[in-house]
Amino acid sequence: MFNKNRLSKSNLYLTLFLLLFSYAQNASANISSDIDQLLENANKIRTSDPAKFEALLTELEKKSPKLTKQQSYYLNYLQAYKLTFNGKAQEALPLFQSILTANEADIGIKFRARLTIINIFAIEQNWTEGLLYLSILLKELPEIKDFDIYLNGLMVTAIFYNQLGQYSLGLKYAELLFSKAHQTRTLCVSKMVIIESKLHLKQLSSNGAEIEEAVKLCNSEPIAANFIRSYNAKLNLTNNKSEGVIESLTPYLAQVKSTKYPRLIVEVFTSLALAHWQQGNLEQAEEYANTSTLIGESIKTTQAVVAAYKLLYQVAKKQNKHLKALTLHEVHTELDKTYINETQAKHLAFQLAEHQAIEQKNEIDLLSKKNQLLTAEQALIHANAENTRLIILVLVLTLSVLTFWGYRLLKAHKRIKELAEYDALTGIFNRGHFTQVAKNALRYCQSAEQELSLIMFDLDYFKKINDTYGHACGDWALKTAVDACKSIGRQNDIFARLGGEEFCILLTSCDKQTAQVRAEACRQAIEDINTVDSGFEFTITASFGVTDVKTSGYELEKILADADSAAYDAKHAGRNQVSVFKTPDLENNVVKLDDSRNTF
Ligand code: GH3
Ligand code: MG
Ligand code: MG
Repeated sequence: MFNKNRLSKSNLYLTLFLLLFSYAQNASANISSDIDQLLENANKIRTSDPAKFEALLTELEKKSPKLTKQQSYYLNYLQAYKLTFNGKAQEALPLFQSILTANEADIGIKFRARLTIINIFAIEQNWTEGLLYLSILLKELPEIKDFDIYLNGLMVTAIFYNQLGQYSLGLKYAELLFSKAHQTRTLCVSKMVIIESKLHLKQLSSNGAEIEEAVKLCNSEPIAANFIRSYNAKLNLTNNKSEGVIESLTPYLAQVKSTKYPRLIVEVFTSLALAHWQQGNLEQAEEYANTSTLIGESIKTTQAVVAAYKLLYQVAKKQNKHLKALTLHEVHTELDKTYINETQAKHLAFQLAEHQAIEQKNEIDLLSKKNQLLTAEQALIHANAENTRLIILVLVLTLSVLTFWGYRLLKAHKRIKELAEYDALTGIFNRGHFTQVAKNALRYCQSAEQELSLIMFDLDYFKKINDTYGHACGDWALKTAVDACKSIGRQNDIFARLGGEEFCILLTSCDKQTAQVRAEACRQAIEDINTVDSGFEFTITASFGVTDVKTSGYELEKILADADSAAYDAKHAGRNQVSVFKTPDLENNVVKLDDSRNTF
């Protein structure tokens, strides 16, 4: 059905998406002209007949002056799709993005472009970008009128979350999809995702009824049916029911092979290998594991392939083939390390996206807290007697507190902790939480060999601002300085208040030179603050220290100490400037960039 070489990074999920897209579009053809007809025809055959699809696109490109705006967007979408299908995702991305930025483009075509972009990011394991696009997609979802495209949105969301390892979210969207879908194919695929999620969430029942029902639903979808069987096999393997695994998978081996999907084949063969290993059949186990590693050559860091290498190593060890065992052990360790790194990258991306969502929720919570206070005030106005007033006050306050905490405990127990991790005045991370997030980021950057820099800064003569204009004005200055720096930062920056008037910004994938430029931009932004809104006129400045992991290593305490020492140098050299940390043998650390050297 698919030419494997065309999908160079052959991926089951991509294929599923593509299949589903083409399905949806078959249903929604509304032909009003020749060109519309050509576009719809091209859309219909794009996965089944790539050669004809390309010919139709060439024909459409020749007619391009006659196309209406919407038709041009549709054509752009199909051209970008062609590039994606031919493994040129990087060339396709700007085309898809141009559709997203075109104001007049139809919401349906934009939505489809966004779905494909998410898919591209999933294949490239660019989880941070993928999540960014997904959050917009989820906001757009309720506005999508075309039911099939809407269902595709749910499906992509469910599959993306599962790929990211966020199985409870995957389950939520797959169940929603299952409750709304009519086509057997969509029902089958959503059931497959439900079962995959449940397996990982340890919610899959071992009595087999759900599996049986799902396999029946996927009667004409061998890929999905066999994935479901392989999920069941995994459950059985953890329960030591190897006999059941062999019985349920062996009859479908030919069918599994004929799908030519490496991801499915390695799942099934590794499960069979593990089952035979549990039974003590070393030869059979080795044979199945060998097939798995052979077919899984292009997807080596998949869990099933990693497991197959481990098994091969164990078999060789048991057979006293020590040299072979050693080689296999080395391969396994290397792959396992990469697999763990990839999993960590997924978690980090999700964590960072969550932090942004929490920040927004934090603001909403503060507003609702204000509302509760207003309600309490109203109640008081209506109470006459002093005693009644007191009781009402107590009741309202108790109720507010109970509702407030009860709601949180019930609905977001996890988030209570996280909300407490923000500094109330400036809304950025406090020291404790920063330490935790920074350590994670450092660990990740170390394993992924990525750059990381840290900027630390301290407001100048801040005590004087407090003493001259009052504490409230000091608070205003703190918050405004943070806002000024935030407005020029990237979304991924980890910004924290370390205490008093001391702050730091952790920049992942950023070298010291770039961090220095960023620090200088912050310094300028703080100096440019117009303080009239505070009721007084004065100047706010800060002194900055910058370092990076190349200079200071990956220990957070050392990085903080070096950045602090550089900030101290900046203070010493006259304040309102940026100093870059250098190892003590280098002199003249203080660098003050003037406007003429500013490159941004
Ligand atoms: P330098 O340029 O050397 O940094 O001088 P400085 O006056 O900024 O430094 P110092 O550490 O002597 O003073 C910091 C002041 O910040 C003292 C403290 O009262 C004040 N401060 C700390 N936290 C807050 C806060 O949350 N709000 C306000 N308004 N002031 C704060
Ligand atoms: Mg200070
Ligand atoms: Mg200070």
